[in-house]
Amino acid sequence: WVPRPRQRIRALDPDVVNKIAAGEIIVAPVHALKELIENAVDAGSTSLEILVKDGGLKLLQITDNGGGIEKEDLEILCVRHTTSKISTFEDLSSIATYGFRGEALASISHIAHLTVTTKTKEAALAWRAHYLDGKLAPAKPGQSAEPKAVAGRQGTQITVEDLFFNVPTRRRAFRSYADEFNKIIDMTGRYAVHCKGVGFTCKKAGEASNSLSVQAQATVIDRIRNIYGGMVANELIELTVSDDRWGFSANGYVTNANYGIKKSNFLLFINHRCVESSTMKKAIEQTYTGFLPKGGHPFIYLSLEIDPARVDVNVHPTKREVHFLNEEEVIQAICKKIESELAAVDESRTFLTQS
Ligand code: ADP
Ligand code: MG
Repeated sequence: WVPRPRQRIRALDPDVVNKIAAGEIIVAPVHALKELIENAVDAGSTSLEILVKDGGLKLLQITDNGGGIEKEDLEILCVRHTTSKISTFEDLSSIATYGFRGEALASISHIAHLTVTTKTKEAALAWRAHYLDGKLAPAKPGQSAEPKAVAGRQGTQITVEDLFFNVPTRRRAFRSYADEFNKIIDMTGRYAVHCKGVGFTCKKAGEASNSLSVQAQATVIDRIRNIYGGMVANELIELTVSDDRWGFSANGYVTNANYGIKKSNFLLFINHRCVESSTMKKAIEQTYTGFLPKGGHPFIYLSLEIDPARVDVNVHPTKREVHFLNEEEVIQAICKKIESELAAVDESRTFLTQS
C-alpha cells in the first residue's frame, strides 16, 4: 500500500455523480422495467404492452394508454428530482402513487438511449423526444434536439435502448439474456396479478406470440390462472385481514393444503408497490409447515395497505426495502389468519371424507 500524495478535494463532475446514482437504482433491466410499469399505472393506463430484446439490454419498450405528458414538460422530464407527484417533504408521507422521487427516467437517460413518444388527450399530435444524460438530445448527430411532432395515439411509449452502453463493466456482468428475460417476465407477472383493471402483454422481439398476456377485465383469480397455472388457481383461499391498532389492512389469495411446490412463490405489494420481505416470507412458510407435506411450499399473493405515515419508504433509492411500524404484529396477524383459514379448509375436507 503506497500512500497517495496529498491532493485537493474536488467536487465530482455531476455526470459522474448521476451515473453512479443511476447504477444504484438500476442494477438490471428488470429494475428499469419496474419503474416504467409503475409510471404507466400512475398515469391511469388500462393497457401496457412490453417489448423486450436481448433480455432488455438491447431494447425495453413499454407502450401505455394513460394520460400522456404535456409537451412543455418534455424539456425537464429527465432532469433528476423532477416529478409531478410530490412537491414537499411532507408529501412523502401521504403519497399514493408508486414513484415519488423523480429519479427513474433521469437515471435511465444516464445509462441508456431513451426515447419518449407521448400524447395527451387534449393535444392534436404526439411528441417524440430523445434523451441523454438528463437532457434532450438529437436523434442523430447534427439534428435538432427539440421534440418532434409525430402521429400517435393517446398515451406514452418509452423506449430504452442499449442499457449500460456506457457502463462496460456492468454490461459485461450479464451472462445470459434468458435470465434477464425471466426476471422481466416474473416482474410483469406480479404487476399483472396486482393491477386490477389493467391489461398486460409482454413479448420478445421477433417472436410471433406474447410470452404473457392478461386482459384488462380479468379477475384476480383469472390473472393467477393465466400466469401461474390452474394447479395454483384451483386451490386458492381468499384472504382479508386488518387491524386498526397497527394501521393496516391486507387482502389477497393463498393456496390451501392441497397445493405444494418445491419453492414458494411470494407476491408482496405494500401500498401497491412490489416489494420483498424475507421476514414475512419466513413467517408465512413456517405457518404452512403444519399443513403441507415436507418439502411442499405455498403460493402467496398479498396486497398490504399500511397507513403511509407508518411506512418508511425513504430508506434506499431502489425502494425495494420497505420498513413499517409494528412489523412483527402485522406479520403475526397475517399468519394467524392464514393458519385459521388453512385449518378451516382442513376440517371441511375431513368432514367431507367422513360423510
Ligand atoms: P416519478 O415517477 O418519481 O415522478 P420518474 O422519473 O419515474 O419520476 O417520472 C418523472 C415524471 O414523468 C413523472 O412524475 C410523470 O409526470 C412523468 N411520466 C413518466 N412516465 C410517464 C407515463 N408513462 N405517462 C405519463 N407520465 C409519465
Ligand atoms: Mg416513476
